[in-house]
Amino acid sequence: MYDVIIIGAGPAGITASLYTQRGNLKTLVLYNEKSGLEKAEHIENYYGFENGISGESLYKTGIKQAKNIGVDVKKEEVTKIENNVDTFKVITPKGEYDSKVLILSTGNKKNKPKIKGIEKFEGKGVSYCAICDGFFFRNRSVSVVGSGNYAVSETNELINIANDVTILTNGDKAPEIRADNVSIDTKEIDEIVGENRVQRVKFKDGSEIATDGIFIAQGVAGSADFAKKLGIITKKDNIVVNDDMETNIKGIFACGDCTGGLLQVSKAVYEGAKAGLQAIKYIRKK
Ligand SMILES: Cc1cc2nc3c(=O)[nH]c(=O)nc-3n(C[C@H](O)[C@H](O)[C@H](O)COP(=O)(O)OP(=O)(O)OC[C@H]3O[C@@H](n4cnc5c(N)ncnc54)[C@H](O)[C@@H]3O)c2cc1C
Repeated sequence: MYDVIIIGAGPAGITASLYTQRGNLKTLVLYNEKSGLEKAEHIENYYGFENGISGESLYKTGIKQAKNIGVDVKKEEVTKIENNVDTFKVITPKGEYDSKVLILSTGNKKNKPKIKGIEKFEGKGVSYCAICDGFFFRNRSVSVVGSGNYAVSETNELINIANDVTILTNGDKAPEIRADNVSIDTKEIDEIVGENRVQRVKFKDGSEIATDGIFIAQGVAGSADFAKKLGIITKKDNIVVNDDMETNIKGIFACGDCTGGLLQVSKAVYEGAKAGLQAIKYIRKK
């Protein structure tokens, strides 16, 4: 059992971990691939680097710094989080980890694919959360848009509820998943169609399949995806936090680009420090 699990190894998550680890809390940081920071070629507006620094170098140095003071840092993509009242279970394709506190710092990535009709049918068959909305599609035919670990995790949620599930990779390679009621279609999607609700998916080659619901799980799950599943309040896909970086769910904090506002390293570091300190206070009070 960890005291704190932090999702994201950018400036927000790593800074939070420096505080929690130094506050004597057993801390795990999970990250997966590119962060916003790595995409920044050259940063000249962050304190302390006389000639500026590349985003990639700052990112890698931050991870090393955390490891050097004893933070457990693992490169594992988080696909699911469970709130078990007093503790949280964080699930990756490689393992499951429990903690008393969760800090979300997954950056500002938005996962919505550019597919015609997607916004028109949100709430009318298009969903972003299998665990929240799967029940509405019991014994129906549903589709999952995506091709990675997150799409597989969402499909696994739906297998036991829906009659059948089709994974639509939208041109990407098919993931490995075996279940009697799951099929995979790799064609590129053109449009979601229907009268008042989702009825069909039209592909770019002109072919169509019938479907009652479409679950969007493209790429890697981001903070907005986790928020939906955990009941965390968001505003325009940004996590809503109070001055102490607390979300509306007890024990869950958020910091950095995922809370919106100024998308800069200095703000991510500031919020990471606050989230780390508040996590320490929260656990000591408990
Ligand atoms: C091109 C570009 C240029 C920029 N230039 C500047 C600049 O000059 N100055 C400046 O101050 N800022 C700049 N920024 C912004 C800056 O990079 C961000 O504000 C900062 O990186 C935010 O930090 P963060 O920790 O919130 O998120 P990020 O740095 O984006 O880190 C997010 C972390 O979450 C992890 N993650 C996401 N989803 C999952 C998951 N499901 N499971 C596990 N891990 C996950 C990622 O692997 C990553 O480690 C730039 C950004 C870009 C894209």
